Amino acid sequence: MRSGYKNGQLDAELARKSRPNASITDQFLAGPQLHMLRGMAEVEPIILEIDPANGHFLMEHIWLNSFEVDIALSELGTLDLPVCWGLLGYASGFSTTIVGIDILFREVSCRGMGDQECRVVGKPLSEWDDPSDYEVFSGSESLIDILYDLQSKTPSDPMDEIEHKIFSKLVGQSRGFKDMCSLANKVATSQASVLLTGETGVGKELIARGIHDHSERSKQPFVAINCASIPQELIEAELFGVEKGAYTGAVQSRQGRFERANKGTIFLDEVIELSARAQATLLRVLQERELERVGGAQVLDINIRVIAATNEDLETAVKQGRFRADLFYRLNVFPLNVPPLRERHDDIPLLAEFFVDKYETLYSSKTLGFSDKAMSQLLDYQWPGNIRELENVIERSVILTENNQRISAKSLFLDLKETASHASTDATIDGLTPNYPDVNPTSVSQSDNWIETIFDQAITMDNVESMLVQKAMELSQNNVSKAARLLGMSRPAFAYRLAKLES
Ligand SMILES: [Zn+2]
Repeated sequence: MRSGYKNGQLDAELARKSRPNASITDQFLAGPQLHMLRGMAEVEPIILEIDPANGHFLMEHIWLNSFEVDIALSELGTLDLPVCWGLLGYASGFSTTIVGIDILFREVSCRGMGDQECRVVGKPLSEWDDPSDYEVFSGSESLIDILYDLQSKTPSDPMDEIEHKIFSKLVGQSRGFKDMCSLANKVATSQASVLLTGETGVGKELIARGIHDHSERSKQPFVAINCASIPQELIEAELFGVEKGAYTGAVQSRQGRFERANKGTIFLDEVIELSARAQATLLRVLQERELERVGGAQVLDINIRVIAATNEDLETAVKQGRFRADLFYRLNVFPLNVPPLRERHDDIPLLAEFFVDKYETLYSSKTLGFSDKAMSQLLDYQWPGNIRELENVIERSVILTENNQRISAKSLFLDLKETASHASTDATIDGLTPNYPDVNPTSVSQSDNWIETIFDQAITMDNVESMLVQKAMELSQNNVSKAARLLGMSRPAFAYRLAKLES
């Protein structure tokens, strides 16, 4: 709503500048036009009364083809509240700026909640019973802070709830993992810092959450941050917060992740990526149990448990001078190595079933489980991308398997070294050769053949794209969401390419 409001304000200023001599009503009419031009909705006016001199304003209109309804219906289905927030914000911001009175728009009906039409009424604030929703526009609270707050408060989606259980669910299966879990259980109830090591994709964040959930801090926030995903020059502000004006661009004071995680647990993934300065600050925070925001003078008490993770050897990094020794010893109070999937052979069937359940629920489908050949392939494969790769493979196979059919070896797309000779046929469904750029960079070279073909036959990029889109639709029985997932795309991005094809 707030971003819609800002856009409305900007458009109002534009309308004023481009029609300086026009009446207020004429200037006002630019709003609905700009709205349509931007493709947000088509406006069908019913009532428009503007009389700023007497403080009077009344507008009623219908939005046809609201883009927000389209998104909400395709992504979330019918909801029990109006969904055209951005449009409401826009109408409110535009009208308030043009007319010079605080005006609030509300939807009295919305297609997004199953109504016939989106019908909208705009009136001065004073004429609404409880205009508290207008505060969202004038609030000075930073949007990013609101989002962060929601992130740490929301008990995450139901899928995450299932994943939490994985921690206890797997105990008692493979030896290595069982040992690791019992150590994790023991350390959970202490206050000790934990350092998780292990290859990428082994589920370190899940273990960190498990430790948090089994600790006495479980009712407090769990905040996870991947140190590699934040630019070096912003990492300190991100971790420890920043005061307004600390540097160019710091236009508002903002809490850091440590403040958000206070009394709870912070999970620092890829901790080796911290800059030397951030390492020094982190060490001080852990030693003193207090922090100062970047550019701030106030000292805040901090009570936090740190779980760090790395897939590189931190001791080596210390020897090379890339990581502070004193910080390493602070983080490494309780080291825990998470074994790679290939060393947890006995867990593969359990994990595979777990992910099948997860994606059957997500895609409302029901398979009959794995064929014998499919299961033996899962067991033979080396899983260089670990659990993350297993999850991706299972998701694809659930999408590709029709209801009440078994998941076939063919739908798993695994490149088995042992069966390299027929891997190319096994890994191919009707000529569609997928690859996993994130877990298996070598697969690109294995696919050189079809790339050659594309150049030999002078096939254009557009052709390749349309063939991929068509094939994905065919494989997913014209289910757009599933087809998008097959190509690793978001639904809107895929739908855009599909529409381009059909036009
Ligand atoms: Zn609506």
